[in-house]
Amino acid sequence: MTNAKPSDRVAWLQGPSALCEEPAHSQVPWRLVLLGAPGVGKGTQADLLHQKLRTCHLSTGDVFRAAAARRKCELSLAMKAATEYMRSGALVPDSTVWEMVRERSGCLHCCGGFILDGFPRTLSQAESLKQLMQGKGLPLTAVVNYDLPATEIVARLSGRRTCELCRTVFHVTERPPKVEGVCDRCQGRLFQRDDDRPESIKVRLGAYELSTAPLIEFYQSLGLLMQVDARGMPDEICAKTLVGLDGRCAAIPT
Ligand code: ADP
Repeated sequence: MTNAKPSDRVAWLQGPSALCEEPAHSQVPWRLVLLGAPGVGKGTQADLLHQKLRTCHLSTGDVFRAAAARRKCELSLAMKAATEYMRSGALVPDSTVWEMVRERSGCLHCCGGFILDGFPRTLSQAESLKQLMQGKGLPLTAVVNYDLPATEIVARLSGRRTCELCRTVFHVTERPPKVEGVCDRCQGRLFQRDDDRPESIKVRLGAYELSTAPLIEFYQSLGLLMQVDARGMPDEICAKTLVGLDGRCAAIPT
């Protein structure tokens, strides 16, 4: 873990024509995948891990949300369709997701490492990622699976509010802002994501059970899986993750 400045992630968010700042070279280029049902807090953990490990937080959901915020006429047909799938809570088709990730494969080969959040989400995506990384001789460090009871997942998702400017995440009862509807950090307006509405939550949880949960076994069989109990405060969960990662890292021969 290093004190270098965290690298930005414009090449991930905007596509390969955008250039990132020089990545922070760390002794260990962490290459992590975060797994877990929607609402377990992967995004929050990815943010905290990014601050601690100085490794880019690469979220596929953020790329699709950035596309959804653009004018429709600027989007390819596939991206336009992707934003519709997202709004309903359904998974975006593998071919669209993979094209988007492959375009950004530079981020996966980056010497600063990465924290993948929201990808892979299906066995086919996991196989594609495995081949891409194997082709470059860059193994994943670990796959962290955040585990949370279903009742808590629904409560977290339906109370979540996001700042429209800085994307900080609040919760109406668990992490309320000082002023209702206003971001503590930047005074931006807080909104509820379209896919955090009850009808979309149901679709997302169904898609998770069907398509994403099998990845736990996939990564277990590759010896990469690290289970983390996602109950409790974000800082505590992050601390547990870091202890687990340290343990794994100590076991990896240098
Ligand atoms: P969550 O809070 O559910 O973890 P994300 O921000 O990761 O949400 O993703 C939001 C939405 O973007 C998903 O519900 C899905 O529609 C789409 N999406 C993101 N990543 C993928 C992926 N790897 N495969 C298919 N769809 C994806």
